[in-house]
Amino acid sequence: MPDVLVLVDHDGERVHQTTYELLAAARRLGDPAAVLVGTPGTAARLRESLARHGATGVYAAESTEAGEFAGSAAVDALQLAAGTVAPAAVLVSATTDGKEVAGRLAARLDTGVLIDAVDLDSSGTVTQVVFGGSYTVRSEVTHGIPVIALRPGSFEPEERPADPVEHELVLPPIDSAASARVTARRAALAGERPALTEASVVVSGGRGVAGADGFKVVEDLADALGGAVGASRAAVDAGYYPHQYQVGQTGKSVSPQLYIALGISGAIQHLAGMQTSKTIVAVNKDAEAPVFGVADYGVVGDLFSVAPQLTREVAARRGVA
Ligand code: FAD
Repeated sequence: MPDVLVLVDHDGERVHQTTYELLAAARRLGDPAAVLVGTPGTAARLRESLARHGATGVYAAESTEAGEFAGSAAVDALQLAAGTVAPAAVLVSATTDGKEVAGRLAARLDTGVLIDAVDLDSSGTVTQVVFGGSYTVRSEVTHGIPVIALRPGSFEPEERPADPVEHELVLPPIDSAASARVTARRAALAGERPALTEASVVVSGGRGVAGADGFKVVEDLADALGGAVGASRAAVDAGYYPHQYQVGQTGKSVSPQLYIALGISGAIQHLAGMQTSKTIVAVNKDAEAPVFGVADYGVVGDLFSVAPQLTREVAARRGVA
């Protein structure tokens, strides 16, 4: 089986769930080989988690300055690994950083890149969401090693214990004059909830939530379901909820098992970030709201009446106080 390179998303201590999704997707094409960029010692800390999720190889590019330059080291590491193993494909997460890495790597390798893939078959054909979610197309790279950015949530992580062979990648010196240096990092205030792009349930609020205080009903439902909270751009722009939680074309793309939209009209730019969710539930008092066009289940009603009832019911069934 050919190797399939997977770029590891991590925070130095923990491998992000999106990487496990990529490892599961990679198995459709060959043997998943993790490419990890970090400061010295990172690979030793993360190896066990990668092995548990089926990485048959770990290519570690470690250096003290690896994290200082946005994306550059990851592109270098993937290029080096691709030169070593001639992989069937390179998979990265379709996050903002991942898409940048994918584009730069494809330019370096003179190959094709597919962004925002939501599925992948064993022939390398991907299903992609394009033009802000207006169309779903099937595409394949016809020239060179395919570089594929997969949307978080598109694949289920799987535990598939392996005993990865370790390889060291020696990164070239970074050209600091031509690279963007990260000068400071501040941890996002995530609280107890799962990260938006990793959650299997996302409950989002829109302008219909009518204020920052109104988001309590959104949070309560998310907590009852063990999910993450999202928001429409209108809600974010109005200051109801922090920007980092925006879902949509200019926010985060999510594909959870369950997406609940509360007081969100369903503008195309919002749908672009969530319409690949497996099950969509919408609560809106306007029966004509476009969100009902993508919803699997819809409730025409006042979210301040519907959501608390739902929260109580879910909490009762799950035994949450
Ligand atoms: P509205 O469209 O105002 O809808 C509010 C809804 O709440 C209405 O349907 C109303 O019936 C309902 N409602 C009101 N009160 C209640 C109640 N008590 N109970 C139940 N329902 C109620 N938007 C995004 O979300 N994400 C993006 O990334 C994004 N990117 C954009 C990029 C560009 C270039 C542009 C031009 C726009 C972008 N937008 C984005 C904005 C988008 O076009 C919409 O303006 C926005 O999504 C609307 O948010 P909303 O649905 O919360 O608000």
